[in-house]
Amino acid sequence: MRQYPLEKYRNIGIIAHIDAGKTTTTERILFYTGMTYKIGNVDEGTTITDWMEQERERGITITSAAITCFWLPDDLKNKEDKDYKINIIDTPGHIDFTAEVQRSLRVLDGGVVVFDGVAGVEPQSETVWRQADKFNVPRICFINKMDRMGANFEKSLESIWHKLSPNAVALQLPIGAEENFKGVIDLLKMKAIKFEGEFGEKVIEIPLLDENGNPHPEGQKEVSSDLLEKAKEWREKLVEKIVAEDDKLLEKYLGQEKISIEELRNVLRKATVNYKLIPVFCGSALKNKGVQPLVDAIVYYLPSPLDLPPVKGTDPKTGEQIERKSDDSEPFAALVFKVAADPYVGTLSYFRVYSGHLNKGSYVLNTTTGEKERIGRILRMRADKREDIDEVFAGDIASTIGLKKTITGHTLCDEGHPIVLEKITFPEPVISIRIEPKNKADEEKLNTALKRLSQEDPTFRVKGDEETGETIISGMGELHLEIIVDRIKREFNVEANVGRPQVAYKETIKAMAEAEGKYIRQSGGRGQYGHVWLRLEPKERGEGFEFKDEIKGGIIPSEFIPAVEKGVKEAMEKGVIAGYPLVDMKVTLYDGSFHEVDSSEFAFKIAASMALQEATKKANPVLLEPIMRLEVIVPAEFFGDVIGDLASRRGKIKETKDRLNLKIIDADVPLSEMFGYATTLRSLTEGRGTFTMEFDRYAEVPPNIAQEIIEGKRK
Ligand code: GDP
Repeated sequence: MRQYPLEKYRNIGIIAHIDAGKTTTTERILFYTGMTYKIGNVDEGTTITDWMEQERERGITITSAAITCFWLPDDLKNKEDKDYKINIIDTPGHIDFTAEVQRSLRVLDGGVVVFDGVAGVEPQSETVWRQADKFNVPRICFINKMDRMGANFEKSLESIWHKLSPNAVALQLPIGAEENFKGVIDLLKMKAIKFEGEFGEKVIEIPLLDENGNPHPEGQKEVSSDLLEKAKEWREKLVEKIVAEDDKLLEKYLGQEKISIEELRNVLRKATVNYKLIPVFCGSALKNKGVQPLVDAIVYYLPSPLDLPPVKGTDPKTGEQIERKSDDSEPFAALVFKVAADPYVGTLSYFRVYSGHLNKGSYVLNTTTGEKERIGRILRMRADKREDIDEVFAGDIASTIGLKKTITGHTLCDEGHPIVLEKITFPEPVISIRIEPKNKADEEKLNTALKRLSQEDPTFRVKGDEETGETIISGMGELHLEIIVDRIKREFNVEANVGRPQVAYKETIKAMAEAEGKYIRQSGGRGQYGHVWLRLEPKERGEGFEFKDEIKGGIIPSEFIPAVEKGVKEAMEKGVIAGYPLVDMKVTLYDGSFHEVDSSEFAFKIAASMALQEATKKANPVLLEPIMRLEVIVPAEFFGDVIGDLASRRGKIKETKDRLNLKIIDADVPLSEMFGYATTLRSLTEGRGTFTMEFDRYAEVPPNIAQEIIEGKRK
């Protein structure tokens, strides 16, 4: 039986760039929602790792991919009895563009974006914001660190208006600032809110106006008359913005009728869900101020699964688009958004249920692998424990243990009603480095870590180099691999040495060609006989490899065909130009012959490899290199230098835009030219330029550069 109605679900992410206070805010939310019994302080001598270590020992997992808590705003306590169920989904603060970040944004319905009240919108906050835009995530903002020197609510809000969205509206004003930051004014209720008790757990509301709209004597003790005047003005602005979103309310407003707080909240909720308005709050998570109203706001303004359109997917058999409503009576469908190593229970697979329901012990179909998996246990992460639960329903976020072949991005669903929620097109890794443990004895531990991490993140790969015996890891960029190496150290306690990053070049063909491969050895006894003709044709970038069997009349018996395909694939691992893998081509087996006695799978495999190499040489082979999509934001005075530098890196400028006195440059640049760009950009712009980079596509390397790569002059 469903315990919490779907309209009481909030699946949210706390979104922020590193250091804005995401961890502290999340931790306070868990405390106030009654889960953690002690506030951990990341600044105490014991450091965050110690604290997390202790938490881990107690089974507390603030670092979980998803964590469930419950909350009922005070204002609703006399109207509703059931709590709201809030699932907080972890969104990595590192803004790389890996599949993992995208997937966690995909499964959440709304976000709380945390800003540093001193810095306001920083370049990285813009990156996070744009990612959330891409996934249409409705959001509210929390301007944190109001207690810090230099904190300024209005400036921060202005920077949101200018850089992110003019639709941001303040729902609060701070009372005092910096070390005198005391609490907030709730502009809807026109009340001062203070946070008392050791951990700010006592929320005290003080009215600012009496029934006649005159200053309330209690409020006058808390708020100066200037601030009160300002609050009145800001409330007016807020109400104007809200009523403009609803015809009925606007009519009432123009007719000077009384509008209740509840009416305003309802309209603001709709406007937030539809991304028309973005409510802004403030506080200091560290000093325990302003967090409870933020949790109230999650309930009031962020969407429940019912507020959002049905999820789309495809029928794996017909390829047709199908939809699933957020409804328990629909067939079960869920997306696995994170696979994580848990030190106590093994591999945890986190999934979001989009429709239907699931009992533990039942079987589901993984439409990505085509295999059935048994869901032995279903777990829900709470701040202080893992909870075994018997069933999950539409809208739920939970995890399971022991899935063998399911990884991030796979769909699990009702066998009778298959659906694929997401087309999996993981980008191929574009960069690789050698890795080895600092301490030889850690070899085994490093291997375990690499294996676990590659299960979690499909854009991260591990390979052994057969010739040198080295381990090579590859990923989507320098930063991506840096983060992995850092995690190996933090989470698995292995220090590793890494080599220089290498670009993952590839090879392909530009023309059609045919070639013969013969592997015939007859020297008494049983010999070897394999003979094939292959035709190679180029395919579009990213289309990958296709093998076609056109053998008719058994001129090669069907039992040998798989060996031919295997031989082709093996030969494609090393191209003919510089030994990089061959991609994007169609290989057709159209002729050949066999010998009754001497033919074997082995002989056909070798013959196929030979034919493939031969044909590739004739098919106008070329080198491919990863091209990155680059966005650089620089103050206008450095624009010329930065553009000049990009040109020297073979960069192609696609667009430049102005924002205030900043220039935003969109460009395509080959990855091989971008090593160490962070340092160059810093020195070109006196440290004020920032950039983000993501893989876009593979493209042909210009001939002069290709020559240098072939000769080994360029890496
Ligand atoms: P995250 O990287 O976004 O998860 O940020 P953390 O929560 O780890 O916070 C980064 C730093 O900012 C830590 O040193 C925190 O103690 C500090 N911090 C977080 N919230 C506040 C705040 O409200 N006021 C002040 N002064 N510092 C804060």
